[in-house]
Amino acid sequence: MNHRNETLSAVVQHQVPMDPLPTSVRPSLKPLRSIRAVIFDVYGTLLISGSGEVGAAVDPPTVDDPASDAGGGERLDPVRRAIGAVCGVDVPVVSKQDLIETIVHENDAHRGAERPNPEVEILDIWDKFLNRQEIRSLCGVSHWDARVVSEVAARYEAIANPTWPMPSAAKVITGLRNRDFRLGIVSNAQVFTIDLVQALSDIALADGPFDLDLCVFSNRFRQSKPGPRLFDVLVRAMEKAGIAPEQAVYVGNDMLNDVWAAGNAGLKTAWYAGDRRSLRDRANDPRCRDKIPDLVVTELTQLLDCLG
Ligand SMILES: [Mg+2]
Repeated sequence: MNHRNETLSAVVQHQVPMDPLPTSVRPSLKPLRSIRAVIFDVYGTLLISGSGEVGAAVDPPTVDDPASDAGGGERLDPVRRAIGAVCGVDVPVVSKQDLIETIVHENDAHRGAERPNPEVEILDIWDKFLNRQEIRSLCGVSHWDARVVSEVAARYEAIANPTWPMPSAAKVITGLRNRDFRLGIVSNAQVFTIDLVQALSDIALADGPFDLDLCVFSNRFRQSKPGPRLFDVLVRAMEKAGIAPEQAVYVGNDMLNDVWAAGNAGLKTAWYAGDRRSLRDRANDPRCRDKIPDLVVTELTQLLDCLG
């Protein structure tokens, strides 16, 4: 595989097979005309995701999924497991909750009118976290090498947020590309997300079916969906390629982060509702109350039928 960084590909090496969990949502399908670009969400859409989101997201999962404890079944805290696996030392002084609090604190410090949905750079978070005095003392180190920080971050992600390709994801991507659709991504993401996307097609992102200009990852912009920034970036890139917002359809599992946010940017929308782990209907969110996606798909292959 062409993964650009062997350390970060731990998220790929530790993948565990999963199947989607059926939902009771019924598909709503029709031909969508004049579409030139298909833009995808990653977690919960192209990838089955144990937590339904990238691990740095702090929304609780909606399903208690046994696969989210992948790797032996023991219920040891995932932060302790990740540090133990890479550094060989048990660190009972910290837990997943401590990591989440570090992320929440960082996000709160950067939230504002210009940045309603801040995104962390997870390697910075882990660098700060691992350099806590109590962890360094237990591990007997004065400073962590960046390579170790990356390894722990990737190992934690593999444990806390196991992923597996959504059925037919690669086939649908190839099928759409063969029909000359431009393909893109808007993802709440971290650095290892690219490894997972590359593993889907087994080809480097720059050489694969996605148009790099139409790939927008939240950690790069330090803002996340459903804030408008990532879709603003996408719409500008599409404009340069001569594609109007309404000539693109965005496919995602989350009625707020995906359907509402992409709809606000003028894109057509397809709600992916084929896996209970990642099903986010946001029924109690007033922003989603009157939101009707153009399509509701319960299998990704239905996109091939609607996008002739
Ligand atoms: Mg998603």
